[in-house]
Parts: sequence; C-alpha cells; structure tokens
Amino acid sequence: MSFASLGLHSHLLDHLTTLGYATPTPIQQQAIPAVLAGKDLMAGAQTGTGKTAAFALPLLHRLFLDKDTQAIRVLVLTPTRELAQQVHASFERYSAPLSIRSVVAYGGTSINVQLDALRKGCDVLVATPGRLLELLMKGLIDLRQLDTLVLDEADRMLDMGFIIDIQRILKKLPDSRQTLFFSATFNDDIFALSKTLLRDPQLIEV
Ligand code: AMP
Repeated sequence: MSFASLGLHSHLLDHLTTLGYATPTPIQQQAIPAVLAGKDLMAGAQTGTGKTAAFALPLLHRLFLDKDTQAIRVLVLTPTRELAQQVHASFERYSAPLSIRSVVAYGGTSINVQLDALRKGCDVLVATPGRLLELLMKGLIDLRQLDTLVLDEADRMLDMGFIIDIQRILKKLPDSRQTLFFSATFNDDIFALSKTLLRDPQLIEV
C-alpha cells in the first residue's frame, strides 16, 4: 500500500517523499480514504501509531482543493498544551508546500499573541478546550463555517474534566460538520460522548 493509492494530492505525495514517509501506517491506510470521503470516524489509536498524519494529511488535501473561504475550517481539540503544540507543528510540517495556515491556542499564555496569529488568517485551529471557550464566549472567533472537528485523545479530555467545556463548544459548531474521534482507550463515558458527536462513523482500531 502506498500514499498515492490512498488518493492524496501530488503536492502532498511529493512532500511526504521529502519527509521520508515511504508507506502509510495501518491507521493511515484506514483513516485517510474515510476522511477524504467526508465520513465520521471513531478511531482507537495510541500515540506513535501515526494518528496525527492520519487526520492531518486528508484534511490538508481537502483544504488545498477548496481554499475559497477566509474562515476557520478545521478545529482540533486536544487535552493538553503539549499535544496542541505537537499537532500544530505536524500541520505546519505537512502543509509546508500548500500555504494552508495553522494556528495554536492554549491557556496560560498571552491571548493577544494568539489573536494576532488568528487575524493573519487561519484554516486550521488547534486548541485546548478552556482557551477555545474563552475565545468563543468573547466573540473573538467564529466557527460557523467549520467543516471538520477532530477530538484528539478524547479519553484524556474526559479524565481531565473537560466534558462541560466540550459540550459548550459543540453548541457553537455547525451540525453539518464532519467529526473525527480519536481515543487510546474506550469505556462507557467515551462511548456516550462519541454517540452524541458522530453520525454513522467508520470504526478503526489498530
Ligand atoms: P503520532 O502517532 O501521530 O504521534 O506519530 C508518531 C511519529 O511517526 C511522528 O514522529 C511522525 O512524524 C511519524 N510518522 C507518522 N506517519 C509516518 C509514516 N507513514 N512513515 C514514517 N513516519 C511516520
């Protein structure tokens, strides 16, 4: 199996060669075609499986083909600042030849620096729930044009008590969006949350 056979744009394929990515990992083989087709996803995957590229590459492909709006089109929610920074860095690395802009927003640091970055243009916003809610409630960002919501490490988000924040964020997002749900573990709370979020999801476990 090759990245080309998964349907990614040639600009991304050339770039993956430069990065030294020869073959897609198992989660990438399953997730990339499903995300390209606009499906919801429920994926069980640990860190180190290549899960970030599994959602970032197909989302970048779609943004590249449809770059018309000035709006935030992809939102990735993460439980921690460290993961937000890592996911943002991955989007920046993979999108280098595509001029798609990723911005990261998390608490404990100046909101003004993040606002400046947002004002310069943002296709992909990677954020932790608390800071995102602050931006939303103050009317500083608009997510009504969102195409895709990604919940990364959903189990850790619930463990850290973010469920109320997530529910408040969801109220501000369009119902018609695609939702990609990633979790390392599954229990009743995770299934309950996923049921409220996903429509006819494709299940992936690696
Ligand atoms: P992740 O599970 O998203 O944290 O990714 C783990 C590591 O694997 C990261 O350092 C990626 O750069 C790398 N990686 C992801 N996909 C591939 C691939 N198909 N081939 C080689 N390395 C990869």
